[in-house]
Amino acid sequence: MALGAHELRDRIHTNITNSITPKVSFEFFPANTESMEKTIRRSIEKLESLNPEFISVTYGADGSTRERTFDAIASIQARGTVDAMPHLTCVGAQKDDIASIADEYYELGIRKIMALRGDPQGGAGATYAPTEGGFPYAEQLVEGLAAQHDFDIYVAAYPETHPDAPSPHFDLQNLKRKFDAGASTAITQYFFNTESYLRFRDAAVRMGIDNPIIPGILPVTNFATLQRFSKASSITLPKWLETAFAGLDAEPETRQLIAANIAIEQVIALQAEGVNDFHFYTLNRAELCYAVCHALGVRRANTNENNTVEAAA
Ligand SMILES: Cc1cc2nc3c(=O)[nH]c(=O)nc-3n(C[C@H](O)[C@H](O)[C@H](O)COP(=O)(O)OP(=O)(O)OC[C@H]3O[C@@H](n4cnc5c(N)ncnc54)[C@H](O)[C@@H]3O)c2cc1C
Repeated sequence: MALGAHELRDRIHTNITNSITPKVSFEFFPANTESMEKTIRRSIEKLESLNPEFISVTYGADGSTRERTFDAIASIQARGTVDAMPHLTCVGAQKDDIASIADEYYELGIRKIMALRGDPQGGAGATYAPTEGGFPYAEQLVEGLAAQHDFDIYVAAYPETHPDAPSPHFDLQNLKRKFDAGASTAITQYFFNTESYLRFRDAAVRMGIDNPIIPGILPVTNFATLQRFSKASSITLPKWLETAFAGLDAEPETRQLIAANIAIEQVIALQAEGVNDFHFYTLNRAELCYAVCHALGVRRANTNENNTVEAAA
């Protein structure tokens, strides 16, 4: 029987009291302005206090953010407080290029890497064609990276099926091939229907996949942008989500409150289903993810045994 809201919250309270807290990770995209760079730095400072498993930085599908992704990863890694995980894509790149980027990361001490095909130029929805002399799909990129260094390789998974896949079964087989090629862990595309993740997780187990499939959580603040991206990526937006944000276009603060509430409900529902790892799409801002983590029981590293934060000296 499904647990009610009070029981779920009681369980979280018990977990916090017994120091059973989920593992979290955070995703950023590279800054393209100085002010965004400052925002990212502040956000990372705040979120690293939650002792995340890693902080990842995305990569422009066509390599357009190569330097900026590298610089962001180098500066996170240099902090020495959290593992940095760069994303890497196949689009428009020769195998040699990818190998030299991977070498640079390895020399920097990077051991986790996210291997992706990437979207074609023109974004999600445009037609993809493999680059001559490159890796055609993420599976082959995983194979290449695994042969090159002892990376811990992460890959993408799609609870609602990747839009280019001929069928959900094909897409799940593709995920299995990525694990067989050497990936350890998958992170999912964001979703709002908890059932779709749970069904996907069950189907993966039936296919013989026993690697972790970490849900990607997107706290939403801008419904119009979300609608555009979700359409191109074939992600279902439930009616209730639209209703929750209706009429709030000019009220960003209220949208933040609604966004936090929705994301908190989502992670609590997943936690009730035994999910213990969460990957957050931060959109380069800390506040929402910090609030959601707090609700999940993920607290600052210097929180004492009474779950109160130690006063700053
Ligand atoms: C957590 C996460 C992080 C992401 N980060 C980035 C990022 O940093 N930069 C970026 O550009 N994009 C990123 N993306 C988006 C991703 O690049 C796109 O969704 C892309 O379209 C697919 O990448 P993939 O690695 O899943 O591809 P793949 O696993 O290669 O699959 C792509 C499609 O091709 C199909 N396929 C696989 N093999 C074959 C084959 N041999 N023949 C025919 N079809 C095949 C699959 O079923 C699927 O439909 C991210 C996505 C997720 C979920």
